Amino acid sequence: MRGLACLLMLLPFAQSFASELKIGIASLDVTPKLDPKKPVYIAGYGPNRKATGVLDPIMARAIVWDDGKQKMAWVSIDVVGLFHDFAVSVRKQLPQYSHVLISSTHNHEGPDTLGLWGPAPVVSGVDPEYMTFLEKSCLDVIKAAEAKSIPVTSEIGSIHIPEWLTDNREPYVKHDELVTLLFKDPKTKRPAGVLIQWNCHPESLESKNTLLSSDYVVSTVKRLEKEYGCPAIYMTGTVGGLMTTFRLKIQDDQGRELKDGEIAKTIRYGEIIAEKAIESLKKSEPIQLTPFAIHTQRILVPMENPLYQAIWGMGVMKRSAYRWTGNPLEKNPVEIKKVSGVSSLITEVGYLKLGSLEVACIPGEIYPELVIDQVQNPVDPGADFPNAPVEPSIYGNLKSKHRMLIGLANDEIGYIIPKRQWDEVAPYCYGRKKNQYGEINSIGPDAAPIICGAFRDLVIKAKAK
Ligand SMILES: [Zn+2]
Repeated sequence: MRGLACLLMLLPFAQSFASELKIGIASLDVTPKLDPKKPVYIAGYGPNRKATGVLDPIMARAIVWDDGKQKMAWVSIDVVGLFHDFAVSVRKQLPQYSHVLISSTHNHEGPDTLGLWGPAPVVSGVDPEYMTFLEKSCLDVIKAAEAKSIPVTSEIGSIHIPEWLTDNREPYVKHDELVTLLFKDPKTKRPAGVLIQWNCHPESLESKNTLLSSDYVVSTVKRLEKEYGCPAIYMTGTVGGLMTTFRLKIQDDQGRELKDGEIAKTIRYGEIIAEKAIESLKKSEPIQLTPFAIHTQRILVPMENPLYQAIWGMGVMKRSAYRWTGNPLEKNPVEIKKVSGVSSLITEVGYLKLGSLEVACIPGEIYPELVIDQVQNPVDPGADFPNAPVEPSIYGNLKSKHRMLIGLANDEIGYIIPKRQWDEVAPYCYGRKKNQYGEINSIGPDAAPIICGAFRDLVIKAKAK
């Protein structure tokens, strides 16, 4: 009797925690139309790479989450990146959602959506009509995912696969953990959806390719959909510093080594990533993904890169800019219309808790060093800011067993480089004659301290609630 009373007392308490999770996953073809009068410029690598055909469609994929109290939508699009203004505009049209996250896979074989890869170096390759279509497509794909939403149980698997990444920049540090979530219909016990999060540049078709493609992502998604007989979604993670497929040794069925840039290599790499996700699920464990706790912080980051300032000033990079006051949490940022001193951009960091899964949402291409606490210490004496403090690592703040990082989340501000590893001025690190690639595509050396600091403060504030 006493036992039963205890149980009855516990019931409402238990229910408040174990709310039912519903999810739905959908996809939509968002391939730009090819029209000889209006070329589609392919993003990534150099300017003036005009699309001549379609290898596989550019897709927008969405997962809609519902914990009974709050609804969330995550969208992943096969493009190079989307600015914060884009996410803000989509969100305004979805007031019924507690949170909408827009991310890009950082695909280097899709249309220019940032403005950096037009017909000439400082001419935008963005088609405004396509951007309007893409925005509407986000709404459509979210709606389609919601229509497919069903109650599910969830399991999670993860696997470390450093052998399937190349790091193109010293110091060589990889964020090599692949995370997979598998959702099942509790009635039929059959898979209802799969989400994979991986940390690599979809750029394996390289710079000479002129066919629109999502690079290896399509093969990963297809292979997973075939295995589980349900829709899949690919989310990109830690891709900075620089996580790529170049020089990976991959063979075909006959044992022939596939070359970089070869379509067969791209397809095989995508399949391998899916096979690793399947392997990760062989040792999966059930995970409770409700309730949701959503925390976001708007921040300002100074646009210190003179190249970014110049192209923004020329209207090539179309996004709002603000006066930089030195305060990333400035309450009343003043919008500016032309370059005057150092300006800043508004962006956002997010900390999402889905039951016992912690998710870091980072607005660009963060270096693995900053995620897994491996910033060089001591730093190479050639670095420009050798005394800059080591940033608080992203995963250092996440204490749950299960975690995930979504990169290019609600923005693409470029590389987020540990400040003390910033290396633009001679002498260069590691005895190099030339500086390594990276800084030219970063908003500036203060991005990492501001973003990592803001993320740490956001988690501290969230946990104090
Ligand atoms: Zn990149």
